[in-house]
Amino acid sequence: MSGEDSKIESMMQEKRLFAPPPAPADTVSAKSMAEYEEWYRQSMDDPEGFWAQRAEELIQWDKKWDQVLEADMVKPEVKWFKGGKLNVSVNCLDRHLANGRRNKAALIWQGEPEEDVRVYTYQMLHTEVCRMANVLKKMGVGKGDRVAVYLPMVPELAIILLACTRIGAIHSVVFAGFSAASLKSRMQDCEAKVLVTADAVLRAGKTIPLKPNADEALAECPSVQNCVVVKRGGNEINMQQGRDTWWHEAITADGITADCPPESMDAEDTMLILYTSGSTGKPKGVVHTTGGYLTYAAQTCRWVFDLKDDDVYWCTADIGWITGHSYILYGPLALGATSVMFEGVPSWPKPDRFWQICDKFKVNIFYTAPTVIRSLMREGTDWPNKHDLSSLRLLGSVGEPINPEAWMWYHEHIGKSRLPVVDTWWQTETGGIMISAMPYATPLKPGSATKPLPGIDAAVLREDGSEAAANEGGHLVIRRPWPGMLRGVFGDPERYKKTYFSRYEGIYDPEDGSRKDEDGYFWIMGRLDDVINVSGHRMGTAEIESALVAHKDVAEAAVVGAPHEVKGQTIYAYVSLKSGVNPSDELRAALRTHVRKEIGPIATPEFIQFADGLPKTRSGKIMRRILRKIAAGQTEEHDFGDTSTLADPSVVDTLVAGSKEFI
Ligand code: ATP
Ligand code: MG
Repeated sequence: MSGEDSKIESMMQEKRLFAPPPAPADTVSAKSMAEYEEWYRQSMDDPEGFWAQRAEELIQWDKKWDQVLEADMVKPEVKWFKGGKLNVSVNCLDRHLANGRRNKAALIWQGEPEEDVRVYTYQMLHTEVCRMANVLKKMGVGKGDRVAVYLPMVPELAIILLACTRIGAIHSVVFAGFSAASLKSRMQDCEAKVLVTADAVLRAGKTIPLKPNADEALAECPSVQNCVVVKRGGNEINMQQGRDTWWHEAITADGITADCPPESMDAEDTMLILYTSGSTGKPKGVVHTTGGYLTYAAQTCRWVFDLKDDDVYWCTADIGWITGHSYILYGPLALGATSVMFEGVPSWPKPDRFWQICDKFKVNIFYTAPTVIRSLMREGTDWPNKHDLSSLRLLGSVGEPINPEAWMWYHEHIGKSRLPVVDTWWQTETGGIMISAMPYATPLKPGSATKPLPGIDAAVLREDGSEAAANEGGHLVIRRPWPGMLRGVFGDPERYKKTYFSRYEGIYDPEDGSRKDEDGYFWIMGRLDDVINVSGHRMGTAEIESALVAHKDVAEAAVVGAPHEVKGQTIYAYVSLKSGVNPSDELRAALRTHVRKEIGPIATPEFIQFADGLPKTRSGKIMRRILRKIAAGQTEEHDFGDTSTLADPSVVDTLVAGSKEFI
């Protein structure tokens, strides 16, 4: 197949443009597009000089590096700040004790019950982290040992991660919504020495036992010698003598003090392992290192969120995902900011919980996911309108392509048509945000992540490696190393090379499709695994889904290719309607006409199945590979492959039943 034939066709015409608000005088992000362009130019002309300056400005080093970058992207082997020494907890805590932030709120924790609020100043957090680090030490955990963390969004989650970094232990967080089997395979993969978990998770008014999952996993994880249990639900649990300890007892035990000298780590020492969301298959154990990851998390947090000292900043992700790692914990705390951490869900007790929390803490910067925006959009505007959202000054989105209509809703009804919405493209593997607007510089186009941040050499390539023309779809790639990039797949160098560096030699391949428009703006078209091929026309999923979501009755849509004798594939759409809208054949016909009009006949779905729920990962992303199987009539359980990362497996049965109408 030639490069020309294999391109991904772009059909969407989104012409709306929004000027950024005027930059506040004290902005720490770019003040204008000219300034952004100047930074970008510097970063490409002299990448080492550029990053050295960032690392010096933002990070406190015990010893400065000998070499900024040593990179072989073919091998691949990349080292940033080689010879440099630092400690992450010192950067996130100790240095703020000395610089006037000692009594400032580091974390504002809102529990699921409204009355459960805890605030940790930098001093308080420092004390807890040091005590917990001493507990780990007492358990024999040292530099390089792995600590698995399987906790709900309680403050102890933040504390244990920072405690690991204090002594140079490597943390690997497993999202608390995962099953015993998922926990087990991840702990076995990284050979964890300690597990930190809780008795239960509080979720939507229910107490869901968690420790039994941990027990089940631990039965087959001989590497784990100790298990620390946080008391959250108060439910009856099994504590295994000699192995299990309560957090509150461990941290107050005799001999456990708040004095714990930090371990000075090499910049390239592994800091954390985190498994990807599993949208496309078996999760990968992504490895991040100390100096590069921290520098990148802090710098991107500053550029994208313009995070300043008196801001209240809230990222709604779970710390079980990279978004929570980089933008609840490490980025904001390295900058000495105030970060909100929320235990609950957006829809409980009512679909206005997020807006109520924004109002309550007078949140200034709010960062969430398209899945949340679409689900809240479905419930209507009365919910946000009940609350005073005037403290907000900046909105963000991450996780999936944000459909232009969802972007517009967010901008109009949460941002009251005055706030910038930064759509941020990145991955577990990239450590931090890669493509995003600078909030006070970049003119915004709904549905576009806009431009790469300084230091990020992003491009769209054809199959043959040549650069795609303007608006021609292709492979999104990153051509140069950046400090936050993954340094490996834990225990599997082959997979590291094969997954990310084999399509184009010496170039990082994120496996996402994109196009770049005539202004150099990136439009992510979806995952390459999900590309649809109708009569030789290759189409990304995002544009067709966005056209469906642009219809007034549609809340969410997912499209896949279904096998077709003549065309190869035909388009099969799963559509969730807004609250109160009834499915009908008329609506189906109207949706087809709508898509035909919006983007053209070739993209018109042949089948439209109405569905209340779509199969999503625990991180809220649509898992199209399952929808593809359903559309192909392959609905035996073994057809679906690894479904362990699915949020609600019962959705699949409902969809299979609904598909019988067509297949
Ligand atoms: P797996 O790699 O195991 O299949 P995953 O890719 O869902 O799981 P993550 O690292 O959590 O795991 O997600 C990164 C992916 O999410 C990106 O590669 C991209 O497909 C999608 N994504 C994230 N942010 C955006 C965005 N702003 N616009 C478009 N897509 C996005
Ligand atoms: Mg991925």
